Amino acid sequence: MSKKATKQVMKDMNEKLILKQIYYSDGIDRASLAKKTNLSPASVTNLVSEMKSNGLVIEIGNAISTGGRRPILLDINPDYKYVIGIKIGYGYINFMLTDLIGTIKDVKQKIFENITTELVVSELKKQMKQWFQRYKRDFLGIGVAVSGVVDSINGTVINSYLLKWKNIKLSEILKKAFNKDVQILNDVDSFALAQLWFGRAKKYDNSVFLTLGVGIGGSVILNKRLLSSYGGVSEFGHMTIRENGNECNCGSRGCLEAEASFMELARTIAEKTKLETLKRDFNMMQETESSEIEFLERAKTSDKETFYQVFSQYSDLIGLVLKNIINIFKPEYLLIGGEAMEFSEYFYEKAIQYAKGNCFNGLSENLNFDKDAIGEDAWTLGCIYRVIENNILTSK
Ligand SMILES: [Zn+2]
Repeated sequence: MSKKATKQVMKDMNEKLILKQIYYSDGIDRASLAKKTNLSPASVTNLVSEMKSNGLVIEIGNAISTGGRRPILLDINPDYKYVIGIKIGYGYINFMLTDLIGTIKDVKQKIFENITTELVVSELKKQMKQWFQRYKRDFLGIGVAVSGVVDSINGTVINSYLLKWKNIKLSEILKKAFNKDVQILNDVDSFALAQLWFGRAKKYDNSVFLTLGVGIGGSVILNKRLLSSYGGVSEFGHMTIRENGNECNCGSRGCLEAEASFMELARTIAEKTKLETLKRDFNMMQETESSEIEFLERAKTSDKETFYQVFSQYSDLIGLVLKNIINIFKPEYLLIGGEAMEFSEYFYEKAIQYAKGNCFNGLSENLNFDKDAIGEDAWTLGCIYRVIENNILTSK
């Protein structure tokens, strides 16, 4: 590397060191920045002045005096650029626009029967045009959350059986169309990163996330970093829990998702119930997220006994899965989210009690269980965070 190039790399590294401190503080002065980054006060002053003149960093007032002049506090300018996040799901695309600290400026959902990459590009083009006209802001980049096996390093969707996508170089396609940084994540990984950014998970180094509902997904954060590699890591939904069990969407049999998805819970209720109307409702039920939830809601009120019975079995199964997860990862924090949390009173506590009582040698002693508090937005917020992380907080 030439001397000039080395100098540029050093400068970028120092810049990112400073930005990280500024980003995670609620206002910090130059002297404290120098202390925390081990950079000389002169370099901090130089770098900060450059960041101020390009608009990324702003002065937000003065700190309380400790004798002498009150130091000026610096912060990230949240409106410097905006970030786009999209979640591509089964039959829909969710669009989200945030500022640099994750304040949601706009969300939009569009329903489609069949989602192709051409459709994603054309819809994103329309949406970006609207947003640019309304906010007059440049975009930092585009984060994408997709269900399935996603290689985030190369930006490829290796396999999404819900979208019927295989080896789609999504990052390349979007970069070509928009000339922006693009980050592609598995949707549960995006959900997990949102929890690390905004949720209680930020207090812990090692966390596990389990999302239950229409599908079942998982994600692991070790030492505050997403365990993702080239994709397909922590697919808890596809651990086998019954030999030769139900056929799964992934092609295998007896996966957790095939035994405990909403569809399967609905099917079991329909089999067990004596209510003809409920059986008929099941037969007419569409395979969509909202119709599955609606059916379970209806079963809860019309045939309580069967509903309780099925959810009691569900909690046993989830308890067993939690126990296995704890034995493998020994997390400090374990969060459960997804649509199933609408019915959490019928399984959550019982499942946790089972896991606590049965995991290996008191591994759950310092483990904090939690319910998702962010909700639907988490699925898109995480990939937005990844874009911010990649462009503002990590040196190249
Ligand atoms: Zn499977």
